Amino acid sequence: MENFPGKSLYAVKANPSPDLLRVLWDSGITHYDVASIAEVRLVAKTLPEATLCFMHPVKAEEAIRQAYFDYGVRTFSLDTMEELEKIREATNSAEDLNLCVRLRVSSDHAQLSLASKFGVEAEDSKELLIATRQLADGLGICFHVGSQAMSPQAYVHAIERVRAAIVAAAVTVDIIDVGGGFPSVYPDMEPPALKQYFETIDRAYERLPISYSSELWCEPGRALSAEYSSLIVRVEKRRGTELYINDGAYGALFDAAHVGWRFPVKHLRRDASEEALTGFSFYGPTCDDMDHMAGPFYLPGDIMAGDYIEIGMLGAYGCAMRTKFNGFGSDETVVVSDEPMASLYREDRSAPMAEDNVRVLRPNG
Ligand SMILES: *Cc1c(COP(=O)(O)O)cnc(C)c1O
Repeated sequence: MENFPGKSLYAVKANPSPDLLRVLWDSGITHYDVASIAEVRLVAKTLPEATLCFMHPVKAEEAIRQAYFDYGVRTFSLDTMEELEKIREATNSAEDLNLCVRLRVSSDHAQLSLASKFGVEAEDSKELLIATRQLADGLGICFHVGSQAMSPQAYVHAIERVRAAIVAAAVTVDIIDVGGGFPSVYPDMEPPALKQYFETIDRAYERLPISYSSELWCEPGRALSAEYSSLIVRVEKRRGTELYINDGAYGALFDAAHVGWRFPVKHLRRDASEEALTGFSFYGPTCDDMDHMAGPFYLPGDIMAGDYIEIGMLGAYGCAMRTKFNGFGSDETVVVSDEPMASLYREDRSAPMAEDNVRVLRPNG
């Protein structure tokens, strides 16, 4: 809120917890990026005064209609002529729309790609931009560089695509939305400070021919929610360096299992263990072999069944991804006030510190 040189939305999908939504609202976030009618309803109910922006480029017509007429949504994204026509029909040719054309950009700097599913190529965007300009009260261009972008350069390259699209279509643009992708801190993933991202984006944006008359937006999910929660799990069984824990791939640990994401971990025991750290992998509680998290997660060598582990930095894409598969999944939520296990919001630093717990969990670190 203080350092981004424009308006910061929150991408609700990263963590739709009403409690977090209220924390963000109280911190000054007024605009929310929603992707489904259920997210529209949730935010409208939790924060009745919030401004909702429907930024999924492929929407059901009835979702657009409900969002527009019942919930006052005026901002929509799109990446095809068909979606533009759908929005026109669903809103009865409304004249008060902000329409954001989603450009396809590279995910090369990101840990999780968002490059193949959505977006029109800048080279092919002329006709769509001109048609959208005619229908829109406010015309936007948006993109997403992929999640956990490890370099600010990702945004520079994307903004160059925006420039090419604007020049080719010769349209005036009211909103440039640089999307999400802002990183958080995880073991072996230590991005530059957020300030460096903001300064780099500001410079690239100011060089656009429309910067004097347009607004700059971003819509982070991960960066605003990763530090919000930890997961506490119990070790049910130990087999060598494999720990069978009571949450996993079908619970809040989807990314740990399916994309090998490493989260910081901490052994919770009344008397701290003196044993050296050993690399462990985890099995989740379901009967499925895929319910496996390779890690390695560094924990004291004497960890055993009955012990508890805090898995940190799970505020983003953690609880949001849970299923009830096999009947597992706990719903107990406890509000605590201690520091997150790592943070990108502490002053005067660009890398984690010892007290972030990230470093001490490494064998040689
Ligand atoms: C997922 C998503 C975001 C949030 O991405 P993060 O990488 O979590 O910041 C923002 N905008 C859109 C359109 C998304 O799909």
